[in-house]
Amino acid sequence: MVFEHPKIKELLDYTRVLWALHHAQSVMSWDSETYMPREGVRDRSLAMAELAALYQKLLLRDEVVKPVEELLDNEDLNDYERGVVRVLHRSIRIMKALPPKLVMEIAKTTEEARPYWKEARDKNKFELFEPYLDKIIKLVIEAADYIGYEEHRYDALLDRYEEGLTKARVEEMFNYIEPRIRRVLDRVLSEGRYPQNHELEEVKYEVEAMERVNKTILEKLGYPFERGRLDVSAHPFTIGIGLDDVRITTRYEGKDFKRTLYSTIHEFGHALYDLQIDKRLRMTPVAHGVSLGIHESQSRFWENVIGRSMAFVEAIYPILRDNLDFINGYGIDELYYYFNTVKPSLIRVEADEVTYNLHILLRFKLEVKMMEGEYKARDVAEVWNDEIERLLGVRPKTYSEGVLQDIHWSMGSIGYFPTYTIGNLVAAQIYSHIKRDLKDFTELVSGLRFEPVREYLREKIHKWGATYPPEELLRRSFGEPMNPKYFIEYLESKYLG
Ligand code: MG
Repeated sequence: MVFEHPKIKELLDYTRVLWALHHAQSVMSWDSETYMPREGVRDRSLAMAELAALYQKLLLRDEVVKPVEELLDNEDLNDYERGVVRVLHRSIRIMKALPPKLVMEIAKTTEEARPYWKEARDKNKFELFEPYLDKIIKLVIEAADYIGYEEHRYDALLDRYEEGLTKARVEEMFNYIEPRIRRVLDRVLSEGRYPQNHELEEVKYEVEAMERVNKTILEKLGYPFERGRLDVSAHPFTIGIGLDDVRITTRYEGKDFKRTLYSTIHEFGHALYDLQIDKRLRMTPVAHGVSLGIHESQSRFWENVIGRSMAFVEAIYPILRDNLDFINGYGIDELYYYFNTVKPSLIRVEADEVTYNLHILLRFKLEVKMMEGEYKARDVAEVWNDEIERLLGVRPKTYSEGVLQDIHWSMGSIGYFPTYTIGNLVAAQIYSHIKRDLKDFTELVSGLRFEPVREYLREKIHKWGATYPPEELLRRSFGEPMNPKYFIEYLESKYLG
């Protein structure tokens, strides 16, 4: 048994209702994004707000808070039990720190802001969103100050998404990768080894044919349809409802088939994490991925490291050719370059492996200034354009191509973006280890024989759930904390090698 200590067992009896509530909330969110009729949104958001308040109330009961405090420094606990206490302690600390009035105000403001953000983006009118962004910045500063931090206000926010992450750590990471990425990018562009565009980006596909491709490839990767679903939503996502019920979505835009293909593979990586968590952790506070960054490392590993490799492209070529007629006009090499175009562009979600993290660097810098109280919404919008031009040499003509492109700030999610870069860095770190530990890694990919790869990830990452904090997990599994050098090695060998 993993949970033996009588006090932990008692505690878990009290937290099971939190798990059940979260289970229900997850089904509701999945439904909201997939099958709910549009007009259902009003009742659904009120119901969700009520359940969120109930969750907070149930978490902050004495029956939960007291034993967590007592058990905090208990030497008799095993690692799993310590994990339970750590995870609960974090949630309790944050929920207790925030006055309910502020929580409600943030929820209300972001709820109101969402449609204005969308309208502002659609009509390219920043002024529609501007007052909301100003208010959100102010409220998030307040929240960060209530949560508390040691060095920088932004640390309080980073830590919510990536336990233990600080502004200093993110800076150190970007200081290392930025000049090196730019060097790789300059050479890729000047030598023209990877194209910036490909004519397949304009080619239309039949949705049913592409559904077959996505399903077939998911099967090859090892997605168990008896424990998972594939549906359609406006923005692709993964949701772990239970350890045997993990659902992903994709979208079909009708042309440029790599977009739906790679978003499906990306979400598979997220799903596999949840599907391979140790079943003995079921219904406990550690039965989920440990952080957003580690979660993203799993999706990026499958999407980019495996999915965009030559071995994988070769292996899936017959599947593509059998289902998509137009593939017959293209060889494997051409497909590889279509999947791996490199182009400095304005839109983060369309960015390639080389330029992606520069988009995150921009957001990181702006968020730090917002949290220091130096930038109001208007400044953010203006600085955005100068900064992206400096980083990538492209300048937005509209706010929609600039500051309005992401949904995150309208939701109050400040401190979230850096976890995307952590995902990219950790994916490369895992790659450097897996190819050493599984000698025939490339042959496994070429043969679409992924069981050993899945098992490797299960042992190193997945099965632990949230038992260890992110950097400790990496240290235990790979002998060191996050190290950005692997990502640069990966880029250099793939794009310059
Ligand atoms: Mg993701």
